[in-house]
Amino acid sequence: MDEKTIRKIALANAVDHGGKAETNSVLGKMIAADPSVRARIRELMPEIQRIVAEVNSMDAEGQTSSLGPGGHKKAEPKEEEGGLPELPGARKGKVVTAFPPEPSKYPHLGHAKSALVNYEYAKLYKGKFVLRFEDSNPDIAKKEYYDAILKGLAWLGIKWDALDYLSDHMEEYYRAIEKLIKNRDAYVCTCDQETVKKMRSEGFGCEHRVSSVQTSMDLWKRMLGDMKQGGATVRMKIDMSHANTTLRDPSIARIIDKPHPRTKKKYRVWPMYDLGTSMLDAWEKVTHRVRTKEFELRKELQDHILSALGFKPPYITEIGRFEVKDAVTQGREIREGIERGIFLGWDDPRLLTLAALRRRGFTPEAIKNFLMSTGVTKNESVYEWQVIESFNRKAIDPVSERYFAVMEPVKCKIEGLPTGKISLPVMPGSKKTREIAVRTDEVFLEKGDAEGMKDMRAGLMFLCTANFGEVKRFVSKEVAQETLKVHWVPAPGVRIRIVMPDGTTKSGVAEPAVRKLKVGQSVQFYRVGFCRVDKLGKEPVLYFSHK
Ligand SMILES: [Zn+2]
Repeated sequence: MDEKTIRKIALANAVDHGGKAETNSVLGKMIAADPSVRARIRELMPEIQRIVAEVNSMDAEGQTSSLGPGGHKKAEPKEEEGGLPELPGARKGKVVTAFPPEPSKYPHLGHAKSALVNYEYAKLYKGKFVLRFEDSNPDIAKKEYYDAILKGLAWLGIKWDALDYLSDHMEEYYRAIEKLIKNRDAYVCTCDQETVKKMRSEGFGCEHRVSSVQTSMDLWKRMLGDMKQGGATVRMKIDMSHANTTLRDPSIARIIDKPHPRTKKKYRVWPMYDLGTSMLDAWEKVTHRVRTKEFELRKELQDHILSALGFKPPYITEIGRFEVKDAVTQGREIREGIERGIFLGWDDPRLLTLAALRRRGFTPEAIKNFLMSTGVTKNESVYEWQVIESFNRKAIDPVSERYFAVMEPVKCKIEGLPTGKISLPVMPGSKKTREIAVRTDEVFLEKGDAEGMKDMRAGLMFLCTANFGEVKRFVSKEVAQETLKVHWVPAPGVRIRIVMPDGTTKSGVAEPAVRKLKVGQSVQFYRVGFCRVDKLGKEPVLYFSHK
């Protein structure tokens, strides 16, 4: 390797790392470019060190210009607008992306990320975004879940160019399956599940693998007709000893008798996941899909199915799953939790469903910003709730009106407290005001504040300074800057209930102005936190968002 090449590598390395090339990484790049370097490390080292020192003595501009135009390709994927790395083989106006939820549960943050990223890519490339329901399992598909998904994505501001349903393509699936059988790419197997499982793990084919096209076609007709559920499946004929076990003659269609929420009893043979999803990609002309890494092993099978039917697979970009610490996202676990009364519903504040986040007072903008910040990468990551909360705080703090509420109220008599009305802006700097009427000398204070202020002089925010001795006594209307200032509510106040993030409910008391709030509005209770108004009425209910 000549000096010019080494210098070029060192310059690129310096530009990538804030102006400082690193001897070891330059050496690594040299070996990657020419493995024979490995045998000559000792001999080349003084030269590499000399060149690295020389490059590091140049300023950033000098390094870039010495590298020359086009002389440098950054190692990381190029970031397009909005922080999305480029899609492979994507052309403006030609990109079709899709998000394919199964209507088996309420959408959560993980779904939202897949939907959002595919949607954003379609926008970025001025292409099309397809929302597709993969509703091939009548046992778990429910109208409630289709609706929740549509509502959740619309709430996030995701707009689909096409809405498709797997269950609208049943005749096409049947034609595809018949073609696969006639071409000997698939067969009908009547072995029981246990036998199929055992033979797949041991790598042997069953007798049906070698049956004639006619035999398979006869069984296929019976599957569509009177054969009982579980009587047979259609299996791809690939390789029973394939290293990737998903390719060991997987089942691609089965009988399910339960009526389907959309097609009722019209169809009883349903495509399974790999056939279902890959064919829809083909029929919808999807060019690119971004999906989570868990499907990695299935890509080979899906490509095989597509090529057997004469279609080209879409480009797949795999991203890492992300989790939020301690959050339950398994549909089954949530369904059971609701049935057993552990969760209040799909919008229980402990859950990561969009319905729950909306009810807790998270804004779609904050959710989108959080999701995009998690990046289009293969890394798996675990986030703390606080991270999502900080995105939301940024969104609602500038627009949330401020009020007084006391969560653990104790009533205190303050001798000499003047009665009357005070008028306060609903937000710092706002022209809109609210009135607080002090009719008696009694106020509610937080239990902790009342106990902590023993024998102190302290301020009631915007109201007065008082002495908190054995007898509490009004001192002056001025609230001294340097004193501790606590929030308060004039008696009798309005009883409120606050549903906490852990699902428990607290009873508190708030200033009467809370009656004038609107359902869905976010407010900040001084020193308590942000809450979303959930229900008005005699005893208003709020959901606690976060501090
Ligand atoms: Zn069989």
